[in-house]
Formats: sequence, structure tokens, C-alpha cells
Amino acid sequence: MIPRLLISALGLAASLWVVTSTAQTLVLVSIDGFRWDYLDWPESSRMKQIAAQGTRVVKLRTVYPSKTFPGHLSLATGLRPTGHGVVDNYFCRTDRPDCYSMGSGRKDPSWLAGTPLWTLVEQQGGRASTFFWPESDAAFSDLLPTDYRAFDGRTPHRERVRQAIEWLALPDGDRPDLVTLYFSAVDSASHTYGPEAPQTREAIADIDRQVAALWSAIDDMNRRDDADIHLMLVSDHGMAEVAPELFIDTNTLPRPKGFKRVNGSTRVTYYQRDPTADIESLAAALDAQSKGRYRRLSAADLAERHFEDHPAVGDLIIETDPPRVFRRGGGKNADLRGMHGYPATVEDMAAFLVAVGPRFESDQVIAEAHQLDVYPVVASLLKLTVPDGIVSDGGHLKRALRGD
Ligand SMILES: [Zn+2]
Repeated sequence: MIPRLLISALGLAASLWVVTSTAQTLVLVSIDGFRWDYLDWPESSRMKQIAAQGTRVVKLRTVYPSKTFPGHLSLATGLRPTGHGVVDNYFCRTDRPDCYSMGSGRKDPSWLAGTPLWTLVEQQGGRASTFFWPESDAAFSDLLPTDYRAFDGRTPHRERVRQAIEWLALPDGDRPDLVTLYFSAVDSASHTYGPEAPQTREAIADIDRQVAALWSAIDDMNRRDDADIHLMLVSDHGMAEVAPELFIDTNTLPRPKGFKRVNGSTRVTYYQRDPTADIESLAAALDAQSKGRYRRLSAADLAERHFEDHPAVGDLIIETDPPRVFRRGGGKNADLRGMHGYPATVEDMAAFLVAVGPRFESDQVIAEAHQLDVYPVVASLLKLTVPDGIVSDGGHLKRALRGD
């Protein structure tokens, strides 16, 4: 019990404390293609130690399709791909003649919808600093983060971490509320060499060192400067081993006049460009050629994956399962050993999440959460009001936040 007199004497101090205690900061780090089980590999030993100080989500379920741009934007906006508009890394729309490819939003933000976390922070008076995140250099609602970098995959990892630490070391009033970092090396190595390859393990070990250096700096600032800086590690999807001898050569698939055909590696989408083009005979031709290698997605399949009611969905989609992929020329050049993009029911597609810092529960393991849970939980941590239309209320990930 605290005596009543002491409480009133502390009134002023308490209200000041309330003001400073709202200065929560989150460093959101994406490790592209970091499959859910990689955290248990010896190459991730430092990250695993960090996870033990916070909350680990063992399997972070992905949106459909489990691709880089859709996934990152769903993490950032709390919306499904048909909500934020980026339904694949490359796609077209039935209501416009041009097509989207990774990063198109920078030149033409009309591809994009929703309010990513960095925009939400800026709209509500905070500061966001992004050292890469897909489309974080695009103007959402005519707004860019205070600090951002145009994507350049060659930027050394150490430089990214150094800049993040520099931003975090700014005095309390200037310190960003949100910092994002992005690493693609694990994804690249596992696409080329396979998820279990030594090159992939090397890439994981390098990221493990980068994250350890970052957390060590954050931990120091939290102790020394009484800062409230949090770290969230997340990935956009996992990775499945694929077999080049089973690849489906897209040159062998029908390409009738009046349709635009787009290869998304795990699926092929047909957009009907000419309203008189015969979609029934295209469907029949595809079915006849399938021989169990792929399936044509029904309206029910698409509804189950919340992939409908959007002009980018397309008119006809065929999809395959690992270890198959669609590739022009088939498996002739065996330089592709890993792929993602398959439905979330493929266990290898699951991503991971680790949340650590003063407001996150320590020593906690949550078996499963969803990418769409990230947005409301981060908003709650940073005391941001979420916009309408957010899909999740935080789901199981809400347990990551400490109760007040
Ligand atoms: Zn990715």
C-alpha cells in the first residue's frame, strides 16, 4: 500500500512518467524466407537465445500466396493481399492495361492500398525510419517515412544495422517510433541452393550475427538510457525444396489469343484481355494436360484463401505443389532448388516471429499466429489507433504483449 499523501506528492512526477513512458520504439526486422524451423538450427543460436528472453511464435501462418511482396505488405498493413492490392510479386489487373512488378508502387502508388505501420506512425505524429521494407519507399496517402532508403540489395548488412543503431541512439524526442530492417540473403541462397544447403546455413549464420549485434546495442540503450526499445524478428514465408526434373515447362502450357498469361512459379494466372476469348476451352485444355501435376483453382478454393473479389485475382489460375514449380524451359538450368508461394497448408511455407523488449512477455512460446496479427499488436505496442478494416484483432499474438 502506498500512503495517499505520497501519491498526491508524486502526482506531478507520475504524470511526467506517463508522458515519457509512451515513447515506445519497435525495430521490425524482416529476414526474407526464414522458415519457421530455422530458429532451431545451430546457425541461429544467437537469435534463439534472444527469443528465450521474449516471445517466440513457432509457426507464423502466411497469407496467400506466400510470396515476398504480398506477405510483407500484409505484415505492414494488416490487410490481405486483395486488401492492400499487391497480390503477387508480378501481376496484372482486369481493370488496367499495365502490370505490377516488385516495387512498382514507388512510381505509381495507385497500385497500393491500406495504411502501413510506417505511415500510421507518421500520421499520428511519430517518426518512422525504414532501411528497406517492400514498398516502404512508396508514398501511401501521399506520405513517406521520415527516413527511408530506395531498395539496394547490395547494401552491406553491417551498414543497415549500423544505421538502425544510429537512429535508435537519437535523443528521446527524436528517436523513431518504428525502425524497419530487411535482409534478403537467406531467401536468395535457399532459392538457388535449397533450404537445407550449406550456402543457406551460411546466410543464416551471418544474419544471426547481425541480429545479435543489433540486440546487444538495443539492450545497452534500454539499460543505460532507460529506453523502451523492442525488437521483432519476422519472416514473410518459409521455403520448400523443389526438384528440377519435375518442373513444369510453361512453354508447353496453352497460351490462347485474348489472354494474358502470368507465371508466378507456384501458379500460373490467365487474365482475359478479350471479352470474346473462350475461357471454357482454355480450362478444358489445361485440365487435359495436367496429368496430376497441377490443379485448376475453383471459386471455393479461392474463397477459402480469401483470394477473390479483386481485379488482380485473374480469370483462371492453375497451381502446383512442391517439389514442382512452373518454369519457362522446365528444369534445364538446375539453379533453382527452393520455392515458396504455395498455400499456407504446406507446412514449409510457415514463417517465424520473435518479439523481445520491455513490453513483450519473456520466456514465452506461442505455437501459432498469423501474419495479419502483427499489425494490431504493433499498433497496440506503439499506442497507435488502427484504421478501419484491419482483418485481425491480434489473435494469439496478443499474448506477446505484457499486461499493464
Ligand atoms: Zn520473400
